[in-house]
Amino acid sequence: MRLLMPRERLASVREITPAWLKERGLRGLIVDLDNTLVPYGAPPPPPAELASWKQELDRAGVPLAIVSNARRERTRRWAEALGVPGWGLAGKPLPLAIRRAARALGLKPGEIAVVGDQLFTDVLGANLAGCYSVLVEPIEPRGGLPHTRWIRGLERRLLNSHFRSPNQATSPKRGFLYWNC
Ligand SMILES: [Mg+2]
Repeated sequence: MRLLMPRERLASVREITPAWLKERGLRGLIVDLDNTLVPYGAPPPPPAELASWKQELDRAGVPLAIVSNARRERTRRWAEALGVPGWGLAGKPLPLAIRRAARALGLKPGEIAVVGDQLFTDVLGANLAGCYSVLVEPIEPRGGLPHTRWIRGLERRLLNSHFRSPNQATSPKRGFLYWNC
């Protein structure tokens, strides 16, 4: 298993519907907050399209949780606004908070899609936790601090090399970027 590679790439978390989950044998959802669910730093309340996406999950009985590296207070306010459990200062890519959230949802890690916009925190954490990892495009791709922009550039290069030519994963030149577990 390639720990840095998502199982799937989607444009937006809104593409994840009850039918999408069911097709993959998944029953629950754990999502990152900033740039995945809402724009970086945006306060509640949720915009209408986010609220209706959440209602669709509710109607299908799909449990949702937020696991974010953002401050606890910010994560708590969004979790309350959406009526879901939430964990801030999650320390991703460490998988501890994701596993805790999985237990709170009453599901096994393999039954949960973990969705985020960053490889080195969200996707790596999801894979380490044993969940179905999904990478989405950041809501505001050009924003963020200089080091975040640098990391995003590295992520794009990694992803593009992987998805364009997966066989290159074993070449010595690129070998340090990939490992198995
Ligand atoms: Mg994020």
